[in-house]
This record gives sequence, C-alpha cells and structure tokens, in this order.
Amino acid sequence: MKLNSCIAALPSGYLFAEIAKRVKAYSALHPDADLIRLGIGDVTRPLSKHVAQAMADAALGMSTPEGFHGYAPDYGYSFLIDAIIQGDYSSRGIEINPDEVFISDGAKPDVGNLQELFSADSRIAVTDPVYPVYVDSNAMSGRLGVFENGKWSRLIYLPCNAENDFVPSLPTEKADILYLCYPNNPTGTVLTFAQLKKFVDWAIEMDSIIVYDAAYKAFITRGDVPFSIYEIPGARKCAIECCSFSKNAGFTGVRCGYMIIPREVSGLCGTERVSLNRLWQRRASTKSNGVSYPVQVAAAAVYDEQGQREIMESVRYYLANAGIIRKGLAGAGGTVFGGTDSPYIWMQTPHRMKSWDFFDLLLNEANVVGTPGEGFGPSGEGYFRLTAFNTKEKTEEAVRRIAGVLAKL
Ligand code: PLP
Repeated sequence: MKLNSCIAALPSGYLFAEIAKRVKAYSALHPDADLIRLGIGDVTRPLSKHVAQAMADAALGMSTPEGFHGYAPDYGYSFLIDAIIQGDYSSRGIEINPDEVFISDGAKPDVGNLQELFSADSRIAVTDPVYPVYVDSNAMSGRLGVFENGKWSRLIYLPCNAENDFVPSLPTEKADILYLCYPNNPTGTVLTFAQLKKFVDWAIEMDSIIVYDAAYKAFITRGDVPFSIYEIPGARKCAIECCSFSKNAGFTGVRCGYMIIPREVSGLCGTERVSLNRLWQRRASTKSNGVSYPVQVAAAAVYDEQGQREIMESVRYYLANAGIIRKGLAGAGGTVFGGTDSPYIWMQTPHRMKSWDFFDLLLNEANVVGTPGEGFGPSGEGYFRLTAFNTKEKTEEAVRRIAGVLAKL
C-alpha cells in the first residue's frame, strides 16, 4: 500500500515544537522562572456572555421536540448566512448573494481544503513571511516541488520586509493562485485600498485567483484599509475570501468561520470555464454535513447589537495590548511594525541578530517567549513576532523586561 509521500516529505512542524522544546528545557533548569508568553496566536479572553447564552439556549433547545435540529444544511443555516451578509457586507455597500456564503468550522480548514479545487500543476504564490497553512496544504498535494535550503522549488515567494514597507511586489512569473492575508499574520501589517487594488487588477489580467484570508479584519482601525477584498472593484471576478469567528469573537475552541466564493470566480477544466462556487458546492455537499446548530446560533449572536458590543470589547482590549508592546518597544529603541490594525507586532531583531538567537536571549534574560520570524518563511529571518493575546498586566511586564534586555545590547 502506498501513502502520500508529499505529506511524509513535509518538513516537520518545526516552529512551535522547537519553541516548546526550548521552553521546556529552560523551565526544567529554572523551575521558579515566571515565564510570560507573547508567542501565542490563541485568544485568551472568555466568550461574550451574550454569545455563550445563545449557544447554551440552542443546545438545551435540542433536547425538546421543537428545538431539535438534525443535520445542518451543507452550506450553513440561512439565519447565519443572512446575518453575515448584513453585518459584514451589505452594511459596507458590498453585494453578496446567500449562495456565495459557505459556513465552516474555521478559516484554517477552509484555506487548507480550498486547494482541492485547483489542478495539481497550479503555481502557487505566497507573501513571505506567511501563515504556514497555505504553504503546507499545497505541499501536501505535491504542488510545491522539493524543499531545499528552507524554500520550496515551485513556490513563488513575495518577500515582505522593512525595505518594501511590507508591501509585496506583484509576482513576476505566472502564478495561478495567490494567497494574501490582511491584516497579516505574522507581520501585523495591512494593505491600503490602492495597494490591494494592484493585486486585484493583476489577478484579473492574469486569470489568477486570490485567496484572501481576512481572519483579523475586526482589528482594522485605519480608514484607508479595506475590511473585505470585495471593496475593491473587480474582486468578485478573481477573489475568494476566508473569514473566522476565532479572533473577533473568541471562537478558537468553538470553531466557526465562513468563506465567500462569488459566482463569477472561475477557472478552466479542460477548455470549459467552470465556476469555483459550483465546484465548492459540489465538494461541500459530498464532504461536509455542516456546522452544529448551537455553534451557528452563537455565531449569529455575534452580529446583534449586544453581541457586537461585547466582542468588540475584547478586540479593543487586545489592540490596547498591541499598543503597549508597540510603544514600549519603540520607546526602548526597538524597530517595530504592525500592531495598530492587528494583534501582532513584528519586531526587527536588534543588531540583525538571528531570530532564534533573539528568541534564546529573551527566554534567558527576560523570561519572555515570542516567536522567531524565521519560522514563518525565509524573509522572516531577522524578525520576531509578539502577540497581544496575553493580559494587560503580563503584557506590560513583558515589555518592561524586553526593554531591559534591549538597553543592555
Ligand atoms: N488564518 C490566519 C491568518 C490565522 O492566523 C489563523 C489562526 O491563527 C487562522 C486563519 C485560523 O482561523 P480558524 O481558527 O478560524 O481556523
């Protein structure tokens, strides 16, 4: 029996395993050390009471004949689809049809599963550094060639660094699929309307598809940054948008997200043009039995007045932490990016230190755990990711300690 050798050939989930290993070794030697974790990408604040109550009521209702729900519709309940369209699109003047919304158990499964729609020889482009799921899920399907010296031979890397202000260039070779994530994980940076428009125009001209991951859109504060790629004219022809309730509403453990696939987005099957919406419907109806009813009720409660008020309290809390990190480290002589429209702060390592060396330095000297940029791709070397998902008190203490380390360098 033969297995998928592309999965076997993947580099191991090195980044977080290596972080855990180094932290464990340090803790074993220093059991009393008060470690502060600013490496986590998981939220920490509890669910909104209002949203949790909606979920609990729906769950209890399932024990009654009137409230019982069996298999959910494959693409999602219309009450949630309507709430999403109204709350995230119509309210911004964007027209999305109910059959273009697909409810799922999260953006990570969506971005991972979506590549099933693309042919085996599609060329993939990603910004670098990058959320690793886009890369690994395509590598699993054998699209990326071989992994040598930290790079995939068939993957098109679009470097994002301080020199280009974290705005990637357009691909110079033909890319069939381009993954964009804004606000960005890991850099915390954003693209303005004008900057994103260049990518939409490029995709239309090249007959390419943009997979747009908007998992962090709730953190946008700037007025010149789009919440949705569909705010850019023409994007309905070339873009799929993946969204999540994880970071705005704390659903990392509840699991719910959604994907928008406009009817106009299409590609070639042989010589025939086929709508990706149609293909995804076919895939979803075969492979999914929907997302559980109480979870979809909870997600819909995110959109009512009380839900919005409560979830945005947490978003503002994290943004305030991001501000503490940004200002604190900049004030201590650090060079920092992101953190104004995102829970992530991307710091240039001092004196161009290797990102793992800086990780060790902070672990040993400040007892602070972050994430080395190199783990997100070759252009992440020389950078370090800090997250705003800890408490305000621990965030302040961590910044004080990091500033102490910077002062000694
Ligand atoms: N997309 C990006 C860019 C992320 O950083 C994350 C989580 O860290 C996800 C998607 C995961 O979203 P979900 O929890 O909905 O699967």
